[in-house]
Amino acid sequence: MKRIFPLIIFLITVSLLGIIYIQVSWIRTVAKMREEQFEEKLYLVVQKVAEELVEEAVGDSEFSGQSSPFSFQGDVRDIYRRNSVSARFSVYEIKEKLHNAFLQNNLKDLQFEFSVNRDGQHLLSTAHFQEMSRDSMHHLMVYFPLVAGGGSLLENLTPEEVLFIVVPDIKSIVIKSMNGLIVASILFTLIIITAFYLTFGTMLKQKKISEMKTDFINNMTHELKTPLATISLAIDAIRTEKVQKEKDRFDYFTGIIKDENKRMNGHVETILQAAQLEKQEIHLEMSPVHLHEIIQQVCKNLELQIKEKNGQTIFDLQATNDLIEADVKHFSNLLNNLIENAIKYSKENSLYIRIATRSIGRKSIRIEIEDHGIGMSKETLSRIFEKFYRAHTGNLHNVKGFGLGLSYVKEITQAHQGRIKADSVLGKGSTFILTFPRAL
Ligand code: ADP
Repeated sequence: MKRIFPLIIFLITVSLLGIIYIQVSWIRTVAKMREEQFEEKLYLVVQKVAEELVEEAVGDSEFSGQSSPFSFQGDVRDIYRRNSVSARFSVYEIKEKLHNAFLQNNLKDLQFEFSVNRDGQHLLSTAHFQEMSRDSMHHLMVYFPLVAGGGSLLENLTPEEVLFIVVPDIKSIVIKSMNGLIVASILFTLIIITAFYLTFGTMLKQKKISEMKTDFINNMTHELKTPLATISLAIDAIRTEKVQKEKDRFDYFTGIIKDENKRMNGHVETILQAAQLEKQEIHLEMSPVHLHEIIQQVCKNLELQIKEKNGQTIFDLQATNDLIEADVKHFSNLLNNLIENAIKYSKENSLYIRIATRSIGRKSIRIEIEDHGIGMSKETLSRIFEKFYRAHTGNLHNVKGFGLGLSYVKEITQAHQGRIKADSVLGKGSTFILTFPRAL
């Protein structure tokens, strides 16, 4: 069982990393493919536009209708120039043609800059062409010689014009087109990570609970076995004639049996209460009671234990109206558990308990139970209200308990519409603060 946890973490981590790696490389491949497809499409569209431009320019030429350019009189170069694309079209017209062609081929909203060059000179160009054409790392540049197609009259004779087109930031265009895919894959990966996280958290929690339960069973066995052994010894003693003849001795041993029996009863009661809490079977019989009276009564019952430790109890009961709606038995148990803990977890040879009450406004009453005992670490403090939890530090092992007391306290407090919180400093002491609504 111990080894299986690291193994599960290892397997989950490896599989997660694997899945993420595969997804990333898969998305990269798709992006590359789309980029290539995009380039190919762009190339074809621009090529078509370039051919159309040349065709239109030549179609309008002074050669149309004539059988051969060589029957034409004059400087042939001039004719070339007059019928070149740059002479025939304006920047705006070329832009429109390209724009429409892109639109027809599903390249909507494509930004581009272009230029028509001859011998390295920009004859026509859009405003940002020059600056964009410098960054060939991020922008895609395609170019086509504007040459008349084979078989036309001006074949091989048109001046060498070249159409350059720059499409900015093609990577981001491709990534944009894959947005849905990327978001979905991130989302599903996050879902998988969350699911693993939750599963693992639950497993750890279960493991802790099962450990605490094992501790509890060991503890309980020990707690019940000790009184049983003591009772058994006491009975053996009583059976001897010597003890039976002496009343003092006889009373002493029966007294032990009675005490041990009471102790066992107390343990069984605690365990039963926990079981009832678990099944939510506790029924409270509410009645108006005076809080200060309950506090006094509980402390009276614990007087012996406090005396045994040479303890000092300070009462600071200042709530002006101490009437609350409560189930006397459970509420007394609640206070008993808290004060008993203050006694149990006191420092050696020094027991100080302060019990205070205050009215909070007209509707609530606050109880503080403060001790100068061993205190708790932050980690302990955050877990004391969990069922079966016991701090495993220092000399705490000597202190008996099942780790059920405070979980009971919390449940009963909540059943009385109250709130509980604990403050503690390790080595200095603890304070439990409870707030309850006042009976109206
Ligand atoms: P138990 O006392 O049977 O162990 P509880 O539920 O009453 O169980 O308390 C849980 C744990 O909280 C204790 O084991 C102890 O570590 C810690 N604790 C409770 N009250 C105090 C206190 N007054 N001072 C220091 N530690 C305390």
